[in-house]
Amino acid sequence: MRRRSERAFTVISACASLGRNRFGWASALVAMLVVWSVALLAAASAHAGPTPEEYVKHVGGAATIIPPGELRLDSRRMTCGQRPTVIDDQLDDYGAAYPGFLILNSKLMSRVPTAVKLWIYAHECGHQFRGPDEETADCFAVQRGRRQGWLTPDGLEEICSFIRPSKGSSMHFSGSHRCEAMRRCFADPNVR
Ligand SMILES: [Zn+2]
Repeated sequence: MRRRSERAFTVISACASLGRNRFGWASALVAMLVVWSVALLAAASAHAGPTPEEYVKHVGGAATIIPPGELRLDSRRMTCGQRPTVIDDQLDDYGAAYPGFLILNSKLMSRVPTAVKLWIYAHECGHQFRGPDEETADCFAVQRGRRQGWLTPDGLEEICSFIRPSKGSSMHFSGSHRCEAMRRCFADPNVR
């Protein structure tokens, strides 16, 4: 339980703060949370952001670029428009988004249930089309999952367990709030 909560905290914090900075939006939390490589990347390319090739070069070449339409997660083919995915197992989170491409840590991803994997990918894809807001990306992800048939109410509960921090932690409200918002989006016939 404790370990799962710690992982969940990572997802929430990185996506709530680093994600914004990767898109170039200011965040007061950046000084606390940002890793040096991301800071350097942001500084080197303040406006456009790095290309996938620049990103791979920057992280030392250990990362690989999966062309659009070729990524599979638990044998399901994943697409996000024409966006490629960079697999970077040094990433300090399960997933991240730069404008134009997604990043996944396949080591961390291998530890979570299928519904959570697909949701993480769809969430990062949501940032591509809807911008930096976390709740909007969450909503995009669960509605896409419902539409494409990979997300059931049980799967949604797996996602909620994944992002639910330990009781009494400072992130408790945030995780519960995100989950409630996702349940509303999942039930909402109007696509957002
Ligand atoms: Zn996010």
